[in-house]
Amino acid sequence: MNIVILGCGGFIGSHLLDRLLTTTDHKIIGWDPESSKIRKHLDNPNFTLHQRYVDDPETQQDLRNAVAEGDVVINLAAICNPSEYNTNPISVIKSNLFDVYPIVELCVEYKRWLISFSTSECYGRTLSSYVGDTSYENPDLYELKEDETPLIMGPIVNQRWTYACAKQMVERLVYAHHKEDGLPFTVVRPLNFFGPRMDYIPQRDGDGVPRVLACFMGALLNGDPMKLVDGGKARRTIVSIYEAVDAICRMLDNPEKANGHAFNIGNRNNEVTMAELADMMRKTYAKITGDASYEDYPIIEVSAEEFYGEGYEDCDRRMPDVSKAKDLLGWEPKIALEDVLLDTMTYFHNEYAGTMKPAQVAE
Ligand code: NAD
Ligand code: UDP
Repeated sequence: MNIVILGCGGFIGSHLLDRLLTTTDHKIIGWDPESSKIRKHLDNPNFTLHQRYVDDPETQQDLRNAVAEGDVVINLAAICNPSEYNTNPISVIKSNLFDVYPIVELCVEYKRWLISFSTSECYGRTLSSYVGDTSYENPDLYELKEDETPLIMGPIVNQRWTYACAKQMVERLVYAHHKEDGLPFTVVRPLNFFGPRMDYIPQRDGDGVPRVLACFMGALLNGDPMKLVDGGKARRTIVSIYEAVDAICRMLDNPEKANGHAFNIGNRNNEVTMAELADMMRKTYAKITGDASYEDYPIIEVSAEEFYGEGYEDCDRRMPDVSKAKDLLGWEPKIALEDVLLDTMTYFHNEYAGTMKPAQVAE
C-alpha cells in the first residue's frame, strides 16, 4: 500500500510508523514539521517525510500528488491539547476544522480512503451528568455508542468545546461526502491512548500544560506536586498505544470492514478517576525507582479555572462501547492499566530522570 500520514511525527504517528515500517512493506509519505520522535525512521527507504505543515502553500503540489498516488490518507495532524481549547480557541478551530477541509476535498476528488482521527470528546458530557445521575445507575445514559449516542457540546462561553465541535464538524463533513459522493472513510474516536513519547515533559522539552499523563509524570520528575483538577473526580478509560496502533493496522488490513464506520478505540476495563490515576502513578514510580517515599508523593487539588483558565468544562466520564471494533475488526484490548503505566513511566524515567530542569542547568 501507499499510505499518506499527516501529523506522522506526533505521539500516535510515531508509534504507527514504528509498527508499519518494521512489520510491513507499505510505502509511507508523511507530513509534520516536527521530527524529533521519528528520527530513527528518517533514513528508511519506505518512508518520505515532508517536514512542513500540511497547509503550507509550498507543499500543496506534493500533497496532491501523494493523495493521487495513495491508497489511504490517515489524518493525525491536529492541535489536541485540552489546555489550548479555551486559551487558544481560534488556532484550535483552524487546525481541527479549516486545515482539514482541503484534505477532505482532496480525498473526495481522488476518491481516496480517508482515516480521519476524531475524538471521544465529540460525545461531550454524559447524559447521566445532565440528569444528575452521579452514581451512574443507568448505562444507557453514559455508555458511548458510535451510531447511537448523541453528541452534546456545552455552551459557547465554555470554550473547552472548540476542539470537540471542530472534530464533530469534520466527522459530519466526511460522512456527508461518503453518502453523496461515495468517499471511503473511517473515523477513529480515541479514548485516552497512553504510551511512551506522549506529549512532552514541562520545563524539560516543552512549555505549557500537556495531557494528564505528561502532567503527572512531569510533576514526579520535576519534584512538583501532582495536581488534581476539581478534585480528580473525572473518569477516563486508558488504552495502551500499542493496542491502539493494532486497531489502526487491522483497519488497514480490512478496508472493506473499516469503510463507512466510526470506531471507538478504548479499553473498558481500564477505567479510573484522575485521583486514582495519580495514586497509581506515584506507586508505580516508587516501584520503578525503588524509592518507597514516592508512594506518598504530594498530590494537591486545584480548581479548573486556576489550572486551565476561564472556559474549561470537563467530560465527566467516557465509557466506550467497543463492540463494533471487536465484531468488524476482531480487536479487543487486553493490556491492564498497571502494565501500561509501568511500561510508559519506565520509558519517561529512563529518558528524563538523569537530566536536569533548565533552571537547574542555569544555576
Ligand atoms: P500529537 O500532538 O502528539 O501529534 C499531532 C502531530 O500533528 C504533531 O506532531 C504536530 O506537529 C502535527 N501537526 C499539527 N498541525 C499540523 C499541520 N498543520 N500539518 C502537519 N502536521 C501537523 O497528537 P496525537 O496524540 O498523536 O493525536 C493524533 C490525532 O489523534 C489527533 O487528531 C488527535 O485529535 C487525535 N486524538 C488523540 C488522542 C490520544 O489519546 N492521543 C485522543 C483523542 C484524539
Ligand atoms: N487533569 C488533572 N491534572 C493534570 C492534568 C489533567 O487532574 O495535571 C485532569 C483533567 O482535568 C481531565 C483529565 O485529567 O479531567 C484528563 O485530561 P487530559 O488533559 O489528559 O485530556 P482529556 O482526557 O480531558 O481529553
